[in-house]
Amino acid sequence: MEQSAGLSTQRVRNVATAFDWRDLIGGAHIIRAMLREQTFSLRTTAREQILIITSEVQKALGTLTSGDGIATIIVPHTTCAISVNENADPDVPADLTSALRALVPKVHFAHGEGNSDAHFLSLLIGCSLSWPYRAGKLILGTWQGIYFVELDGPRSARKVSVYVNE
Ligand code: ZN
Repeated sequence: MEQSAGLSTQRVRNVATAFDWRDLIGGAHIIRAMLREQTFSLRTTAREQILIITSEVQKALGTLTSGDGIATIIVPHTTCAISVNENADPDVPADLTSALRALVPKVHFAHGEGNSDAHFLSLLIGCSLSWPYRAGKLILGTWQGIYFVELDGPRSARKVSVYVNE
């Protein structure tokens, strides 16, 4: 009985030496993801304007990663927006710009800057995107492009920031 218990203990020890116990505990092998950012600027030339910025976003992403994950793309402003839509026919951004303008309700805006229409549309469209990438490349549909939507231009230095967490 004692002999058997001894063998059993020995077996456990062998297992212990074969294992890196940190694998079981976990702490030493956790990959700590780090938030990484790349920001670029762009200039707009009209009050309302849609710029397709897919290649700029892709370039920024490429400086951050060649891996797989989900990127967050933000515009740190309150009178522009970011979205995804057709990247082929230039009539589409022009049509959408007209449609956005028509969407502004005829209500009294109190905000002294006189640009509450832009704040309103920015609120509707949104100021961030969450988008998947593989091997550092955005996974977009054939007809999809990333839209920067200017709503209170022209502006000389709008910013777009791309974040990855890996
Ligand atoms: Zn304002």
